[in-house]
Amino acid sequence: MSTTLFVKTTLGARYDLGDDHPFTPLRRELAAELIEAYGLLDRDDVEVLDPEPATDEEITRVHAPAYVAAVKRFGEQPALASSLEAAQWGLAAGGDTPAFAGMHEAAAAACGAALAGARAVWEGRADRALVCGAGLHHAFANKAAGFCIYNDPAVAIQGLLDAGAERVAYIDIDVHHGDGTQWIFYEEPRVLTASVHESGRYLFPGTGGLAERGVGAAEGTAVNIPLPPYSGDGPYRRAVEEVIVPAVRSFRPDVIVTQDGADPHHSDPLAHLTVTMPTYPHVYRVLHELADEVAAGRWVALGGGGYTFDVVPRAWALLFAEMVGAELDPQLPESWLESARERTGQRLTPRLLDDVEPVVPEGDRARADAEGNAVVDQAAALLR
Ligand SMILES: [Zn+2]
Repeated sequence: MSTTLFVKTTLGARYDLGDDHPFTPLRRELAAELIEAYGLLDRDDVEVLDPEPATDEEITRVHAPAYVAAVKRFGEQPALASSLEAAQWGLAAGGDTPAFAGMHEAAAAACGAALAGARAVWEGRADRALVCGAGLHHAFANKAAGFCIYNDPAVAIQGLLDAGAERVAYIDIDVHHGDGTQWIFYEEPRVLTASVHESGRYLFPGTGGLAERGVGAAEGTAVNIPLPPYSGDGPYRRAVEEVIVPAVRSFRPDVIVTQDGADPHHSDPLAHLTVTMPTYPHVYRVLHELADEVAAGRWVALGGGGYTFDVVPRAWALLFAEMVGAELDPQLPESWLESARERTGQRLTPRLLDDVEPVVPEGDRARADAEGNAVVDQAAALLR
């Protein structure tokens, strides 16, 4: 029997950038509750883990010790976030990643969870693991960015290398470029980073162009597919199937780590791709088959972005269902809907895959898909 882990991040502090911040922990809490409401955590082939936060030693395998010390200091005294020094570390008040009380403990919890999932998969205690509270891919080795303090995907990947993995493939399907993870391993030939995202010309963090391919011995181990705004399901699926899949296949990784940000959806307030709900299970299936084909099934899936309560829980429930091989009732559990509506104060779509037609300025849809397909073709040509 194959085993899938569901890894929680409840130990350590709450990752809370403030009540009005889009990266509220409520997103992943609702996702975990939906997964639970569907009964997926009660299965015999599912184990739930709630690991300890990562240690300083584990975090500084990736992050500069001086940066970790600063995160601890500003987390103890968030009022210092108005200082110039806070800005130097990416933690300025009013910035996108303002210092908050307990931020070291919260970010270390995400790292600990990602590491625990990765180690369980590497040591054969589980085949796959999902960590909804991880996937903070914008953090740099010495700077916070884009809501991310520590780069838990990088900490998990480094942990896999330290444990003896020879090659790790990182696949980032979040709408934003997986910049932090890419730069941390830009000179590391043992790590392939592949990211499909909205083009940096239009969206944070501004990087992830076709020309970013890794350097030195690692040339060719960074793969980017920057799609123009309004690109829809077609180019997004092709980017995964016709660029990322062959790149990972020829890299022959021992294990696959995915960052599964749910923000490519057309309703996401922070970006402009026009992906629709049915693309999520389609892409999760492709990732699952890829892990089975090239990495003996070893798959560590991390959450990431996604800023609507209507999409994130449904997307990650579909992801976990794919991982355990479960068929979900298309109608969401009534108990979950009721409680989620109450907690969010929002109307929520009652069915898993229901969606509406994306709203796109006249004429832009066809142009965006044509340009998106051309980018996919260029990225595929670079692999050869
Ligand atoms: Zn994102």
